[in-house]
Amino acid sequence: MIEPGPVCYRTLAYPNSHHLSTYQAIGGYEVIKDIITNQTPADTIIEAIKASGLVGRGGAAFPSGLKMSFMPKSADTIKYLVCNSDEGEPGTSKDRFILSENPHQLIEGLLIAAYAIGASVVYNYLRGEFDVPYQRMEKALEEAREQGYVGQNIFNSGLTIDIYNVSGAGSYIVGEETAMLESLEGKRAYPRAKPPFPAMSGLYGCPTTINNTETLASLPVIIQQGPSWYKNYHSENSGGTKIFCVSGHVMRPKIMELPLGIPFTELLDKVGGIRDGNRLKAVIPGGSSMKILPAEVMLNIHMDYASLKAAGSAIGTGAVIVLDETCCMVEILTCLMNFYKHESCGQCTPCREGTPWIYRTLIELLNGKSSVAAVESLCRIAGNIEGKTICAFGEAVAWPVTSFLQHFSDEFIYFAEHGHSMVKGRKKS
Ligand code: SF4
Repeated sequence: MIEPGPVCYRTLAYPNSHHLSTYQAIGGYEVIKDIITNQTPADTIIEAIKASGLVGRGGAAFPSGLKMSFMPKSADTIKYLVCNSDEGEPGTSKDRFILSENPHQLIEGLLIAAYAIGASVVYNYLRGEFDVPYQRMEKALEEAREQGYVGQNIFNSGLTIDIYNVSGAGSYIVGEETAMLESLEGKRAYPRAKPPFPAMSGLYGCPTTINNTETLASLPVIIQQGPSWYKNYHSENSGGTKIFCVSGHVMRPKIMELPLGIPFTELLDKVGGIRDGNRLKAVIPGGSSMKILPAEVMLNIHMDYASLKAAGSAIGTGAVIVLDETCCMVEILTCLMNFYKHESCGQCTPCREGTPWIYRTLIELLNGKSSVAAVESLCRIAGNIEGKTICAFGEAVAWPVTSFLQHFSDEFIYFAEHGHSMVKGRKKS
């Protein structure tokens, strides 16, 4: 279930939310029209984005305005904007509904960002499995071109900003920004070693900014309402809104755009609480790559960047995976590692060899053929991946392992000693 929201999901309150007429009826495309007709300086827009406190909503949480300011000012080379719509983090399904239900707001956000960084070409890279979102984006682009909002001489200004949708081919790692650039260039999606960073040498070696869909779709509202409105949306300096995808053992899994800083308990109330009257056991608060936190921590947490960081995890993509007391943590971690071993691109040895090694160790544990020493080796293997790889996939593998072992080591050790789960009611594997 999806609920309308105040920023990226604001058209969802209306019928035919994806239609151009719906978006125009709430002032759609007026922000970019004002910017272009008044020739607003690019720096003014970037400063407004900085002042809003917007950070990347795709998981990395890098300050969006600062990232845009890294683009060179010179006009002697083509510059690119890439929108990362390759939403693939397990538990995450927020961007697909921006693409399918509010595509015109994303297009306006792309135009604002492209204007601010001086990009004349924009690629919107969509996850390959996105059929309806792709069709809706194509239709919306066609309408925007017909209106003179996209393409050459937009708003009769002489300015060219063209936008293209590109469909991916089903890889998880292509969501990593430099892997996406490789894919756009027609190559296999291997992450690049950094530096050079994309702002200096990105797509085809040209300056490139890459932002997440939710980040870019927020821009029309941030500029329209003002950076202070956004930054103080919930409480002073709370930093705007975030789309949360609440899944797992809750009564009514839901996707909601809410103020950052909302208490986790309030989020839980909105989805009807834990299923079957069970007790909360743990939460992965930001998509499967983030560190798991036990119930006693989560029940006292506010859903914002600073609070989750202080608690030892992160808001990530906003995918809140709720686990109740019936979960066996050995099974959950095995399931996650099965995913990661499949998705490693294989470029770096620690990730290529370490991820399947962790998975094999867990499978042996589940089959009752392991030992406490093998359990203890899991953190050592993870430690030899974290920080030693080309891209952050290494951390995405290591963090679940170390955090599961930090908070639930008794379950892993019990499994090694008894050959079955310690969770009441679980059958022997
Ligand atoms: Fe590929 Fe893994 Fe290395 Fe990233 S960390 S480049 S996914 S092998």
